[in-house]
Amino acid sequence: MAVGTAVGWREGLDAGDLSSEALVRASIDRIHSLDGHLRAILSMDEGHSLQLARKADARLRAGERSPVLGLPIVLKDNLHWSGQQVSCGSRILNGFLAPYDATVVGRLISAGAVPVAKANMDEFAMGSSGEYSAFGPARNPWDTALVPGGSSSGSVVAVAAGYTPLALGSDTGGSVRLPASFCNVTALRPTYGVLSRYGLTAMASSLDQVGPIAASAADIALAFGVMAGRDPMDSTSTDLPGSERLASLHPGKLKGLRIGLPAEYFGSGLDPGVRSVLETALEVFSAQGAEIREVSLPHTRYAIDAYYLLCTSEVSSNLSRFDGIRYGHRARAGSLPEMIAETRDEGLGSEVKRRILLGTFCLSKGYYDAFYLKALKARTLITRDFEQVFETVDLLATPVSPGVAFPFGAKTDDPMAMYLADAFTVTAPLAGMPCLSMPAGFTAGLPTGIQLIGPAFSDVMLLETAHAFQSLTRHHLEMPPLSA
Ligand code: GLN
Repeated sequence: MAVGTAVGWREGLDAGDLSSEALVRASIDRIHSLDGHLRAILSMDEGHSLQLARKADARLRAGERSPVLGLPIVLKDNLHWSGQQVSCGSRILNGFLAPYDATVVGRLISAGAVPVAKANMDEFAMGSSGEYSAFGPARNPWDTALVPGGSSSGSVVAVAAGYTPLALGSDTGGSVRLPASFCNVTALRPTYGVLSRYGLTAMASSLDQVGPIAASAADIALAFGVMAGRDPMDSTSTDLPGSERLASLHPGKLKGLRIGLPAEYFGSGLDPGVRSVLETALEVFSAQGAEIREVSLPHTRYAIDAYYLLCTSEVSSNLSRFDGIRYGHRARAGSLPEMIAETRDEGLGSEVKRRILLGTFCLSKGYYDAFYLKALKARTLITRDFEQVFETVDLLATPVSPGVAFPFGAKTDDPMAMYLADAFTVTAPLAGMPCLSMPAGFTAGLPTGIQLIGPAFSDVMLLETAHAFQSLTRHHLEMPPLSA
């Protein structure tokens, strides 16, 4: 069966031309034929997925209609799907089974979506390339000598390679948008709180959000609408205004749309090929009557520092729960302190250890004011930049990353170089603003994305704007050359 879109398969399922069982089988077959090479998938439960598909078919036959009913989906391996492995890409949780469903996963399954696999990822979602998975990296389907981007590497590859039309990742500082840009798919990071974090393994709780991934904004809208909204299990969750528009997304109006280009994102560090792709993409907006103007977000220069101080501080606290007592791996060792130390030494990878150490340092007495507290102040200034700029423009358009996908090993010896790949993706999360990455074109044969950032709770408008762009362009329809 040919690769399909969520919207296309939705119509086929509703018309009775397709069955969920056939679509889920096609997804499973495609994974078997391609994933030996692409390595996007960590675990599957084919029998259970096929059973869920047959249930969806029965609901369809009974006349039920819902945006995701019968559609296959891949889940990042830090999201809890009851009874299935949730390794978070780490040895310390290898083989650990989720005791319950994450709220977003439960809502999708209740609406009839069918999870078919758990996806590879950087360990505990720390990374920008996918190379920090304890189980070996996923590969970029456009060129398997290159990284797919991270940390939601496997989820993005699953969509890019056509395993499933939908996937879920998580985005703390860019983890759905960066790989989406490297692999030519669309990914949304919602306003903080719109998707429940219950059952998403915590990395940095004040920044973590679940992010839907698909070929297009219209496909994303189907899954997003089913998941969005307040959840009593996550006190930071909240309802999304306009969510009723997601079940069938219409292109937003581009005429008169005020788009800001922040000067700080278009400096000399930007790859010239990426810059020229963006310029061409922006002409699509201006040709439709959008007003494009330069703006400034002056505190952007503090974003990487603030993000990596706050993120590592929260990581050091959140990951203290992996102690060999409550979850996963336990080292064989004498005393209790020795057991805890050895469990963490054996179970955690070097990037995770680096962040725990950095974060512990930032939070320690005597350094707290100079690092953690100062980073919080920078976060406030960055948030104010956004609030001020959104008084004059409706949304911002920026690059997603300074460059395109890079070769394996290019940045693993230099953590700073890896962190700098996130220069354009960490600012919006610090401010809690929604943002998305969508295919903008190709440079030297490799895809690159454009990022749209909107004010808090403008998620639906962002998707409608992306849909308008995708109705006028074909970049998102380009598929990588793949052979089994
Ligand atoms: N690359 C960023 C980091 O390593 C973002 C990761 C993420 O969004 N999960 O922290």
